[in-house]
Amino acid sequence: MPADHPAPPLRVLSVIPPMTQLNTPYPSTAYLTGFLRSRGVDAVQEDLALALVLRLLSPDGLRAVAACVEALPRKKHSPAVQAFAAQQARYLATIGPVIAFLQGRDATLAHRIAGRHYLPEGPRFESLDVYVDDGSGDPLGWAFGSLGLQDRARHLATLYLNDLADVLRDAVDPRFEFVRYAESLAGSQPTFDPLADALAAPPNLVDDTLQALTLEAVARHGPTVVLLSVPFPGAVYAAFRIAQTLKARHPQITTVLGGGFVNTELRELAEPRVFDHFDYVTLDAGERPLLSLLEHLQGRRGRQRLVRTFVREAGTVRYINMAEPDVAFAEVGTPTWDGLPLDKYLSLLDMLNPMHRLWSDGRWNKLTVAHGCYWKKCSFCDVSLDYISRYEGASATVLADRIDAIVRETGQTGFHFVDEAAPPKALKALATELVARGTGISWWGNIRFEKTFSPELCQLLADSGCIAISGGLEVASDRLLTLMKKGVSVDQVARVTRAFSDAGILVHAYLMYGFPTQTVQDTVDALEYVRQLFENGCIQSGFFHRFACTVHSPVGQNPEDYGVTLQPLPPGAFAKNDIAFHDPTGVDHDALGGALKKAIYNYMHGIGLEEDVRSWFPFKVPKTTVARNRIERALRQPA
Ligand code: SF4
Repeated sequence: MPADHPAPPLRVLSVIPPMTQLNTPYPSTAYLTGFLRSRGVDAVQEDLALALVLRLLSPDGLRAVAACVEALPRKKHSPAVQAFAAQQARYLATIGPVIAFLQGRDATLAHRIAGRHYLPEGPRFESLDVYVDDGSGDPLGWAFGSLGLQDRARHLATLYLNDLADVLRDAVDPRFEFVRYAESLAGSQPTFDPLADALAAPPNLVDDTLQALTLEAVARHGPTVVLLSVPFPGAVYAAFRIAQTLKARHPQITTVLGGGFVNTELRELAEPRVFDHFDYVTLDAGERPLLSLLEHLQGRRGRQRLVRTFVREAGTVRYINMAEPDVAFAEVGTPTWDGLPLDKYLSLLDMLNPMHRLWSDGRWNKLTVAHGCYWKKCSFCDVSLDYISRYEGASATVLADRIDAIVRETGQTGFHFVDEAAPPKALKALATELVARGTGISWWGNIRFEKTFSPELCQLLADSGCIAISGGLEVASDRLLTLMKKGVSVDQVARVTRAFSDAGILVHAYLMYGFPTQTVQDTVDALEYVRQLFENGCIQSGFFHRFACTVHSPVGQNPEDYGVTLQPLPPGAFAKNDIAFHDPTGVDHDALGGALKKAIYNYMHGIGLEEDVRSWFPFKVPKTTVARNRIERALRQPA
């Protein structure tokens, strides 16, 4: 564009669509906004996931829900809806104070909530029956001890909100959940038809509320470009509803779709109807494609020179990728939370386990220590994709400067390092820098349990503020860990996790079942290892995931190396990620999964650690082949 025609002004609004998480902002808009501002772009952000929940869970919101309940035939009332209808006045009277309590604005309400006469109770409160009564007649007394008044109240208030989420699901929108909202419309969904049908359906209360919030956000910021960053399938439907509102009411606004879901599932996008809602869809790290797109929108770059961007041309989807280097991790700037309502997030307490609660409780500043994974070998992981394969770090000085800037901005000193696997060398350098600067933060993050994490390094990390770490033990079986190319052994994991625990750092293990060739014996043995890891104080928390084969993983790309055959993918122009496979081992992993989850849930609460692991299974399984003191012996050996 000639110099006498200045580029049109841009104002970029990045939006977190529902649902993501309620205790702290999902970090994508903070990264994008920080980056765009560092490049002189006028950028703002909104969390419509939090806003939607706060609007629905308000006295006015619940009155609207009550109207939906009244319109529902009585025979369709679920137990949650019945409980709500019977105690409606109490719900309306308590919702405002409970939200204020969960936002940390009214701590003294804990006394009334914990007394169990204040909150109306629905079916979710039945979960309290799992706790052991220690003779006091108070099941939560056992779980919290005498000191946990705030935690006890927070847990009860969380059950109360979960009851209300169930009412929303049963009376307003069957797809509603605080996480995974309408996820089946998008996750590995080959055709756009279900999503198109849902978007064409008359709006319900949730849709109407989201539409109102979208229009309010536009009125507040006056954006020329709206970015919708969609991390997972459970945020796709709402992102499309937001874009639909924008196209109907503000068609001059440019809409852009990106984020983790796009990066994994829409790499072969060929569905033109997506572009009824979005003008552009960008792939992988957003910085470079966005800079190119903004230049294009200002007339300073031709359309042919867009980077990793899908567009619709003459009714057909076209992928444009003028190869340009990505913005280096050290150059992406400091994320900013400016504009997000940091005092409005809800500290929920779903799980009483001290490690597990970190995911839902407390406001954590989210930061990455590096881009990608330094290991990038695990055969179940998306190692062929940029977010794993492009490993780039930044110096400890740059990271510590970012941390200082974030603490100054937010006034909060808790950090969650959201790396896929934070590199030990970088953590060591960062910890040394934090200790030298006297930066008083608390942090937790994800690592690989590799032997570099010596007792000395674990202590240094603890001194720098590390309170918890999580890592993949996957299937606790040396044969399967080798097949997975995980690069760790069970004994090594035992020693490393114990070193963390001895340094006072909580440890969470990601566990897996259903990996190719995994037998029933492998599963029983893996559970025995896990039992011993709990028993020996190596881990305090864990979660069993069912193995899923993705098209981007080594298993999906070379199934014969793992003894499985892939089922053909259904034809489609939309999402593509998980792929079904046939494992000749023929094990019914679904049947085993229930027992594994029950066992780990109990172990996390310190229950059943002395039981034979066979007792968790509702059918006969073989005896474990693992010696009962195997982990104890591993811990006695030098690393
Ligand atoms: S599973 Fe974790 S450690 Fe393994 S390649 Fe993926 S990100 Fe890296």
